[in-house]
Amino acid sequence: MPSLFDGASARIEAALEHIEISEDVAQGLAQPDAALKVAVPLRHDDGRLTVFSGYRVRYDTTLGPAKGGIRFHPDVNADEVSTLSFWMAMKCAVMGLPFGGGKGGVAVDPKQLSRAELERLSRTYIDQVADAIGPDTDIPAPDVNTNPRVMGWMADQYRIITRAHAPGVITGKPIEMGGSAGRTTATGDGAYHTLATMMERWERDIDGTTVAIQGFGNAGQRFAKLCADAGYTVVAVSDSSGGVYNDNGLDIDSLAETKANHGSVTEAEGEQLSNADLVTLDVDVLAPAALESVITADNADQVAAGVIVEIANGPIASDADATLIDNNVAVLPDILANAGGVTVSYFEWVQNRQAWYWEADTVAERLNTRMVEATQAVADRADQHDVDYRTAAYIMALEKIDAATAATGTSAFFSNA
Ligand code: NAD
Repeated sequence: MPSLFDGASARIEAALEHIEISEDVAQGLAQPDAALKVAVPLRHDDGRLTVFSGYRVRYDTTLGPAKGGIRFHPDVNADEVSTLSFWMAMKCAVMGLPFGGGKGGVAVDPKQLSRAELERLSRTYIDQVADAIGPDTDIPAPDVNTNPRVMGWMADQYRIITRAHAPGVITGKPIEMGGSAGRTTATGDGAYHTLATMMERWERDIDGTTVAIQGFGNAGQRFAKLCADAGYTVVAVSDSSGGVYNDNGLDIDSLAETKANHGSVTEAEGEQLSNADLVTLDVDVLAPAALESVITADNADQVAAGVIVEIANGPIASDADATLIDNNVAVLPDILANAGGVTVSYFEWVQNRQAWYWEADTVAERLNTRMVEATQAVADRADQHDVDYRTAAYIMALEKIDAATAATGTSAFFSNA
């Protein structure tokens, strides 16, 4: 399997077979604008000290300040954070948001920390990256294992450091601290809007359509709930401990309760299945909503689903693309399908700048409009160039960054002067 970053470059190359962008942009996108690695020391409750590795990467800021989440996970590393920040640049461009791409993280297992340790770690991370972030430069948000409370600690730490109230430095904050209505559900909502838009476009019935979802966290759980409520049959869901299956459809509310009370969906009664088996399950729609590279060249041929909604970032490794295309699997790509989160983060940032807060209905309606428009635009592009949806989304993103770069002059402009 190629490295995540090489995989990201492969997707650009696929798009460049269909459009031309200036060499200036190609060079600019070949590496991050800035990559910061920091030590994040944590004094444990029992007095021990552990120094974790932390990262913040600003990939590209052609379209606006960098934007992207902060992940707490043992596997966080420089390659992963760089790639995630690159994807954010592409995603913001596809969605027409005035942002570039950024990402951050700490290589830590937060499940091993007490609440007080987690707070200290969150604040120390901000101490270490404070010079690199800001409401006009680079704006973090939640990602895997970080949530509104963590964002609240981080925003508060930034306020302490700068001695100024700047809520727009971080999105995904608790509502009480300047968060937006609808941010917590935004990623699942957006993924659902993308699927719903495409189901209509394909003129497919929801009735009898089966769905399997890997990852039952913030994004996966909301998507599961919306699918079940709309009449899809959600036959399987999983989390890091494994999955559950019911061919008549699972009760999502009851699974959410089990997960909240017992820590895993596997504590629910019913047929159990592994995460590996979930990916190859004979369903209509597969939604990977956990981590990267769960579908690779090794298992792509066994994927039975006709549609994949990439709720996670990078769940399909680039070496699986060709097989999925050959097998007519329609992949609704991450840089579109999971963009609901960053879209409502954008709304939050706008509200913070104006100190004027929107009703939940307004947020929901504006998110829906943006997701439907972006999905239709990607699907139109796919038809126009006769390419898969991912390549179409990359074409759109690259063209936007190329146009913004051309506006200030590229090599072609200056060499002809
Ligand atoms: P989360 O921490 O709330 O949930 C992650 C879920 O994945 C949990 O249920 C966890 O048990 C499960 N999981 C972890 N390891 C797993 C494994 N090996 N196999 C199966 N399941 C596993 O995180 P989230 O915010 O829901 O994010 C999930 C994915 O969506 C990530 O790829 C993230 O980058 C992406 N995403 C999130 C947002 C957002 O706003 N939260 C926005 C865009 C993309």
